Amino acid sequence: MTGWALVYEGFDPAQERLRETLCTLGNGYFATRGAAAESAADSVHYPGTYIAGCYDRLPSVIEGRTLEHEDLVNAPNWLPTTFRRPGEPWFSLHDVEVLSYRQELDLRRGILLRDLQVRDRAGRTTRVESRRLVSMASPHLAALETIVTPVDWSGPLEIRAALDARVVNDLVARYRQLAKDHLVPIVTTRARRDGLFLKVRTHQSEVVIAQAARLRVDVDGRPVDDPGRVTEEPRYIARDIVVEATAGRPVRIGKTVALYTSRDHAISECGLDASTALARAGDFDDLLHAHALAWKHLWATFDVELEVDGEPVSPGNGGLATAALVRLHVFHLLQTASPHTRDLDVGVPARGLHGEAYRGHVFWDELFIFPFLNLRMPEITRALLLYRYRRLEEARVAARAAGYRGAMFPWQSGSNGREETDTQFYNPRSGRWMEDHSHVQRHVGAAIAYNIWQYYEVTGDLEFLVDYGAEMLLDMARFWASATTYDPALDRYGIHGVMGPDEYHDRYPGADRPGLSNNAYTNVMAVWVLRRARAVLDLLPDSVGHRLRDRLGLTEAEIAGWETISRRMRLVFHADGILSQFEGYEALEEFDWEGYRQRYRDLYRLDFILEAEGDSTANYKLSKQPDVLMLFYLFSSDELRELFEHLGYPFDAQTIPRTIDYYYRRSVHDSSLSRVADAWVLARADRPASWDVFMEGLVTDVADIQGGTTPEGIHLGAMAGTVDVLQRCYTGIELRDDVLRLNPRLPEALGRLRLWVRYRGQSLRIELEGRAIQVQAMHCVAPAIRVVINGKTYELAASEHCAVELT
Ligand code: BGC
Repeated sequence: MTGWALVYEGFDPAQERLRETLCTLGNGYFATRGAAAESAADSVHYPGTYIAGCYDRLPSVIEGRTLEHEDLVNAPNWLPTTFRRPGEPWFSLHDVEVLSYRQELDLRRGILLRDLQVRDRAGRTTRVESRRLVSMASPHLAALETIVTPVDWSGPLEIRAALDARVVNDLVARYRQLAKDHLVPIVTTRARRDGLFLKVRTHQSEVVIAQAARLRVDVDGRPVDDPGRVTEEPRYIARDIVVEATAGRPVRIGKTVALYTSRDHAISECGLDASTALARAGDFDDLLHAHALAWKHLWATFDVELEVDGEPVSPGNGGLATAALVRLHVFHLLQTASPHTRDLDVGVPARGLHGEAYRGHVFWDELFIFPFLNLRMPEITRALLLYRYRRLEEARVAARAAGYRGAMFPWQSGSNGREETDTQFYNPRSGRWMEDHSHVQRHVGAAIAYNIWQYYEVTGDLEFLVDYGAEMLLDMARFWASATTYDPALDRYGIHGVMGPDEYHDRYPGADRPGLSNNAYTNVMAVWVLRRARAVLDLLPDSVGHRLRDRLGLTEAEIAGWETISRRMRLVFHADGILSQFEGYEALEEFDWEGYRQRYRDLYRLDFILEAEGDSTANYKLSKQPDVLMLFYLFSSDELRELFEHLGYPFDAQTIPRTIDYYYRRSVHDSSLSRVADAWVLARADRPASWDVFMEGLVTDVADIQGGTTPEGIHLGAMAGTVDVLQRCYTGIELRDDVLRLNPRLPEALGRLRLWVRYRGQSLRIELEGRAIQVQAMHCVAPAIRVVINGKTYELAASEHCAVELT
């Protein structure tokens, strides 16, 4: 990676699926993996197109039981474009000698370029160049341009361009035993004179997906008028055109595609709208112009500039340029959640729109994603929070069904907010299905609450609280209050039967029921929600507050109860004062790290390793990912001190480093989210270590450090979270009490950092270099804001700036 590009030289079949994920192009409405246009799904390639929010459920029989799964549907493949000499097999990289191969993802303009030369079995050399885009300007449009140049031969060349709905959801090996065919053809395909058309619907959710494509072929700059021949098969339509090719003369194949679904706004019938949009759309260069402009504007809002010692090639990160890696993360985030998302009813899938891992479900990962978006384009966060609001009723039903009150959001969410977490997962090491209890991670609701508040802190958008945010917070507070149990002996409230973020502990050793007691993270978050809900009630205009209380049947006594619980929630501490991950954690056995490190190359999926040995991660003092440490990720030590004091527990700042060290040493770092939280919590005590962990986080996907998970989709939480480590952690940005606090702690290696944020309507340029900080407010009409640097408050009006030299 350099500057603005991810470049691959040479074709490597073993790496191809990873590259396809990383070269995915998308615009928030849909995304298409960077698979070669001539490829179909096989052991090397996996073309996949995913439309935000387009889910479908299918039943599967596993070990005699029928289970239903909801997947983000692999939509028809619009890419297929290939060529051959008539009568010979279609072009495939597997049948030719690859003389040169270069693939480039251009982050600045959002296009994927490919340039290769091959020699076929008959000794003929051919050059193939292509450009591809998924329009950031017009979210329903995509385009592919392929140029085939015979280098040393002349003769007929047969071109095929197709739309292919024979695709299934088949990317993830461990889901392969499950039903995967989500598409049903609903009309026969239809071919226009220069085009192709396809309409299908999803099985159960009945989403109609229409694609229309236009084909333009020219030989050496002269358009070919022959419409060719159409091949129609069930769920497939192709157009074949034969041209006369001449050595050294390029044959250009332009394919423009429109994609609509029945879920879209402002449509009549999605097939008709796809055809209309296509008729109005230009060719590649026209689309590229508007598309590149849209990206230019996005980068003006989202870029992070940084200088790292030794850049552009720094030894610590395997020769990759840090700034470019940061951009790659921002790029993929914006391809999943973009300005177009504002108009959609979707959440952020943990693995982007880049693959099929976790079936496109929405988890708590937004806790790592929204804070970055908040400070850049909070309208996107607002839309993503509305995805949760629209599913509040489902969360209420779930709470009631489980014997609680209020709203209990699902651990994994898809179309309508029903709990979509699997009940079993497959352990390829043992060949056994393991029970999946991760749905008892009730803390997901606290993440939503935290994000609502963060969004409000950044924007001051009271209307959002009035219309949606307060209602969600109140119902979540109500849920937590109903989920606690009072222990008279201790005069403390506890929460039982839950899991914290560490998925390696879903139960007590030997227990036949899932769930733990008094998970510190869950309990503290519950307290935070109870208090925040209370505070938000006070923010609402009287009439709004009354109506809301009336509607929810919320009494003064109930609210007073929240206050009591928030003061008497139980936290458990080890004998040496370390906050215990959950009640009973201290009694677990120490894990034999040395022995296992010798026996296994890496401890990734330690849960699988131990289960295959007849053991369980639940038996040991170890964790998959930060759990207690999440508290240091989300809250400053001032906030934690205040929370602990409110709870009546001692808070000794000295125990923070010990606590971090204790859990950090016992972590497998098996979730890609780990490095974000770890880099964050280490930043206070050990900046060099924080930087190293941050750098590991930056290569999570590009180097596929979990060995095979990135080919199934990016890790969006890790991508956005790492950028947020730069944006909020190293700058020390904290948004609290209507003030923007800056308390920078740049790691040594980070020479300079410049970023643009939006706070309460003000656009700010923040520059950090060594000990110097500059904050420049841009011209706008928003009122002055308050910025606190180094304990000193600055009032900053539009066009003003402040410069501080840290002592
Ligand atoms: C992690 C979760 C995360 C999920 C989706 C899991 O491996 O343990 O914390 O939400 O992946 O990214």
